[in-house]
Amino acid sequence: MRTPIIAGNWKMNKLNKEADALVKELVPLVKDAECEVVLCVPFTDIVTVRKAIRGTNIRLGAQNVHWAESGAFTGEISAAMLKELKVEYVIIGHSERRQYFNETNETVNKRIQAALNYKLKPIVCIGETLEERESGQTEQVLYTQIIECLRGFKSWDFDRMVLAYEPVWAIGTGKTATSEQANEAIAFIRDTIRKRFSLKIADKLRIQYGGSMNGGNVKELMAMEEIDGGLIGGASLSPAKFADVVNYK
Ligand code: PEP
Repeated sequence: MRTPIIAGNWKMNKLNKEADALVKELVPLVKDAECEVVLCVPFTDIVTVRKAIRGTNIRLGAQNVHWAESGAFTGEISAAMLKELKVEYVIIGHSERRQYFNETNETVNKRIQAALNYKLKPIVCIGETLEERESGQTEQVLYTQIIECLRGFKSWDFDRMVLAYEPVWAIGTGKTATSEQANEAIAFIRDTIRKRFSLKIADKLRIQYGGSMNGGNVKELMAMEEIDGGLIGGASLSPAKFADVVNYK
């Protein structure tokens, strides 16, 4: 019932020329994908990538958005600015933002609201650190992130939202969560959404797994009942590797 969604997160990679070349190589490789395909690119690549994906099945995403309409927020980007560039998706609360730029559940909540106000589709990232997992706090951490990040949203807000379960210890480390670990965590997230919001929202909401997903492990992860897609960092920087993930079937 839930259309799978595979999104690439280029992070701070790719100059314009490289972005253009990557997308041109990627387009024919993913044209028959049975999932939704998204590229979340640096702000400076948005216009280039938008042109390169015109008429294809690839959707455009950004990697962050500020909550204010406009104003004295040097270095930030507003939802209106992204909308003007025809961006559709935006990653919010990635663990690298939380780790290096003091992103909190509260600021994630505000960014989601701003994105929704402009009809952008937030890809909201949550996940535990290794220390939290090893001390048995995974569920508590996920619970708090869900409650605080999603506070105040109405049922219709979830129609445009995607969640990404990204255990911090699996991001960029080459260490993937086992398919059982990922499925179990996502089942917990869905169950929490069901209890806190509704069964209908929980059933419809797409929840991705992210953390060293690649062509070698995607099939097993995507075979799990609760996993509706992937957020792909490293492997999205190569057209062939990203296509291997997208064409997992
Ligand atoms: C990510 O950036 O969200 C991610 C999951 O990265 P990687 O695939 O490199 O672990």
